[in-house]
Amino acid sequence: MKSKVTGLVLAGGRGTRMGRVDKGLQPFRGSTLVAHVLARLKPQAASVAINANRNLPQYQMVAGESPVLPDFLEGFAGPLAGLQIGLQFCPTELLLTAPCDSPFFPLDLAERLHAAMAVQDADLAMAVTMERDPEQSDAAPYRQPHPVFSLIKASVLPQLDAYLETGGRRMEGFFKSLRVAEVLFDDSAAFGNINTLEDLHRAERAAAAEQTTATPTPMPNADAASGPAPASPAAARPADSDPAALPVDQAQRLIFDRITAVEATETLPLLNALDRVLAADIISPINVPAYDNSAMDGYALRGADLPADGAAPVTFKNIGIAYAGHPFTQAPQQNECIRIMTGAAIPPGCDSVLPQELAAAIDGDQVTIAANAIRAGANLRRAGEDLPQGGIAIAAGKLLRPADLGLIASLGIANVTVRRKLRVAFFSTGDELRSVGEKLEAGCVYDSNRYTLFGMLQRLGCDIIDMGVVRDDPHALETALREAAKTADAIITSGGVSEGAADYTRDIMALLGDVAFWKLAMRPGRPLAFGKVQAEQDSAWLFGLPGNPVAVMVSFYLFARPALLRMMGADSKLQTMQARATDTIRKRPGRTEYQRGIVSTAADGAPQVRLTGAQGSGILSSMTEANCIVVLHHAQANVAAGQLVDVLLFDGLT
Ligand code: AMP
Ligand code: MG
Repeated sequence: MKSKVTGLVLAGGRGTRMGRVDKGLQPFRGSTLVAHVLARLKPQAASVAINANRNLPQYQMVAGESPVLPDFLEGFAGPLAGLQIGLQFCPTELLLTAPCDSPFFPLDLAERLHAAMAVQDADLAMAVTMERDPEQSDAAPYRQPHPVFSLIKASVLPQLDAYLETGGRRMEGFFKSLRVAEVLFDDSAAFGNINTLEDLHRAERAAAAEQTTATPTPMPNADAASGPAPASPAAARPADSDPAALPVDQAQRLIFDRITAVEATETLPLLNALDRVLAADIISPINVPAYDNSAMDGYALRGADLPADGAAPVTFKNIGIAYAGHPFTQAPQQNECIRIMTGAAIPPGCDSVLPQELAAAIDGDQVTIAANAIRAGANLRRAGEDLPQGGIAIAAGKLLRPADLGLIASLGIANVTVRRKLRVAFFSTGDELRSVGEKLEAGCVYDSNRYTLFGMLQRLGCDIIDMGVVRDDPHALETALREAAKTADAIITSGGVSEGAADYTRDIMALLGDVAFWKLAMRPGRPLAFGKVQAEQDSAWLFGLPGNPVAVMVSFYLFARPALLRMMGADSKLQTMQARATDTIRKRPGRTEYQRGIVSTAADGAPQVRLTGAQGSGILSSMTEANCIVVLHHAQANVAAGQLVDVLLFDGLT
């Protein structure tokens, strides 16, 4: 039976009920909702596919080798449009559908639908459950059909095309033209779906309290809408170890795969191009060096005249001098040489240079050379050996550093084409924040995040738009986000994204765009919002960083910085180095920790690292004291003194 079935995840919706968030891609129990649905379909089908209309690259990542199929019909036409493309694609006799927001459906769905289909000779078999109105417990239960959980014969495609042609868009409407078998499932919770961010968070919290691990297979009996989570097994677990939290590398990948480079470029004089990103390859218009020249101060000669192995020393006659910039143009005769300076063009006919210190004797214009002093061809820099004419001198994507300016100048190139600067808007959120210069009232703190963000963005070479402090007020937040989305390529905020924070920060972010709220398996910097904020025609990527000052910096470096570099068109990767821990470091597996450290050189010359004092995520002094971040990886446990750890030098962060 399984070999006849193709599984299709319906993820083509606009997500209006989730503040336009793309539901399928919401993080859920260590992966995404759609990954959970896919994992439940796979064992029931020969192959699977996803129907989606937005964020196709992200869906493709989840789908792996399986196809992601956008609607054939335009305009988010609903699940029937997904069914249509699914049937067009379906390589098998039967198509099994499941929506992207129902991660708990039964693992025998296909089997039971198929059995009913065969018995009733139906075109389609659909799941049905019995429900009761929670408001009226004495009322009779009613039959609830679940048309999105159907097994359908691929041969009904012409009927579906005809139905869509008439303008019909409702599944139930289309089903009327088919022979439908209904299959009653008694576990109605298994067909529960997640409609709002609230549902999602509730399901996520319920999962966190269960003793599940972060595998992409959800518990079959978990109910999205169940009440308070059972407490027992969680009690044994440390408070902030959360199997539902998203590992850092997954979050980085999800972000990285969505971001594309800003296309616009500009051409600048070389001296204005430092720290900018090269938009097109620099092709060398000349050979570098342009001509064969001497690598040493010495004597240019013909290799054929050198004394052979075992032969007596040979005396050469010096017939002239070649300086850099002043070539000697006469070809020597046999056993003649030319005194030559480093960088001077090799005179015609010469192919070797004897370094002056290897001359056995010099007497007036007589230079004596011992056997085997040099080999023919020695000490020459050949034309084009650094860069051949027509070759790529520097590839596009390079962040131009001083050496690059020098290399470009060495080619005689005066202007370079670079990507335009990124425009990044940033603001801090929080009623407790006061700006420098204002009076600090009781219960308030000075806004420091805007200053660290300013510094980090400035270092990246962005055009920055400082939007100040925005109050924890839905209207103010909406105005700020809209304004930022109109002017900037990216928006960086701090504060308000943790679950405890004023909830409307998250709601407003979700409302204005396609924003995911992640709980990350890391410390510091657990909460993070990422997505796209829309304001009419304009949009900007949003990085909602946590509020705590150290968490802001760490999450900026780990998530915002690589994304901004990618938007700038730069290819760059953070380089870590290894250093020996001077003391033991406590670390719990299951989350990535970023501790502040000081790298120094040990007595034996090897790099060593010790932690700065308090590591709290609000303790900014630990950042100024430190010169690096010690990266303790997800699976890593306690580190013993003397063990090597990875460190990220602040100097490498530009
Ligand atoms: P939140 O995520 O908004 O709950 O903020 C977490 C913590 O970070 C709170 O203690 C805030 O007062 C603090 N915080 C938030 N934003 C800033 C800021 N811009 N400067 C300094 N501290 C901040
Ligand atoms: Mg706050």
